Amino acid sequence: MKVVRTIGELELDGEVGLVPTMGAFHAGHVSLFEAARAENDIVVASLFVNPAQFDEESDLARYPRDEGRDAEIAAATGVDVLFAPSADEMYPAGFSTWVDPGSTGSEGSARPGHFRGVATVCLKLFNIVRPSRAYFGQKDAQQVAVVRRMVLDLDLGVRVRVLPTVRDEDGLALSSRNVLLSPSERERALGLPRALAGAVGADDPVAAARAALNGLEPDYVDVLDLGGARVLAAAVRVGSVRLIDNVIVKGALP
Ligand code: AMP
Repeated sequence: MKVVRTIGELELDGEVGLVPTMGAFHAGHVSLFEAARAENDIVVASLFVNPAQFDEESDLARYPRDEGRDAEIAAATGVDVLFAPSADEMYPAGFSTWVDPGSTGSEGSARPGHFRGVATVCLKLFNIVRPSRAYFGQKDAQQVAVVRRMVLDLDLGVRVRVLPTVRDEDGLALSSRNVLLSPSERERALGLPRALAGAVGADDPVAAARAALNGLEPDYVDVLDLGGARVLAAAVRVGSVRLIDNVIVKGALP
C-alpha cells in the first residue's frame, strides 16, 4: 500500500473505489474498505481530519489520530492507496469556494456549517481521485443524503454505496469518538441504540425513542428519508462526547 500526501503524486489507473475517512479506523471503516475491494481495480482510502466540517474547535483538537495504526489496518484490508493530505494541501492559501448543500435536516441544524465542510471536501476528493464508486456508512445518514443529493445536483456520476452500521456486541455503533467515553459514559451511551431499536415498529417512532432515552438529552430525534428507506435518527451528548445513531424504520437502503 502506498501512502500519498500530495494531489500531484496520485496516479491511478483503472476503476477506482474511494472511501473517504477521518481515520482512527475501526470495523465500520474496514467494512467499507472490504466493499470497495470487492468491486474495484484500485481502492483509495482518504485519511483527512477535515477542519472545515468541525463546528466545535475542542472536538477537532481532541479528535483521535493514529496514522501508523490506520496504515496497518488499511494495508491489511487491501487498500491500495492511503491518501493522507495536509490541511494546506486541501485548503491552500486563498481557498474560497464552498459547496452549499442546502437542506441538511436536524443534524445540519444542530451543527451549523458541518455539511458545507463535508460536501466541499467530498467534491474535492471526487475531483482529485475520480472514483467510479464512493463508499459511506449508514451511521452518518444525513451525510449520505447530502452526498447523494450533491452527486445528482452537480452531475458527478459517482456511484454512492451505503453500508450498514457496524456495532459493538452490546449494540453501540462503532465510532472513532467512542474512545473518548469513560466506562460509565459508555454504559449510559447504550441508551441511544436501545431507544432507537425499541422504537422500530412504534406508531410514532420519534415519540417512542424520546420516551426511551433514559435521561439522555437528545439534540434531536427525527425521521429522515434515505432513498427508499425511512430512518429514525438521533444525536445525544454523553458527557462531552456527541454521539449519533439511526435505524431503518421502513424500506431498505438503496
Ligand atoms: P469517519 O472516519 O468517522 O468520518 O467515517 C468514515 C466513513 O465510515 C463514513 O462514511 C462513516 O459513515 C463510516 N462509518 C463510521 N462509523 C461506521 C460504522 N459504525 N459502521 C459503518 N460505517 C461507519
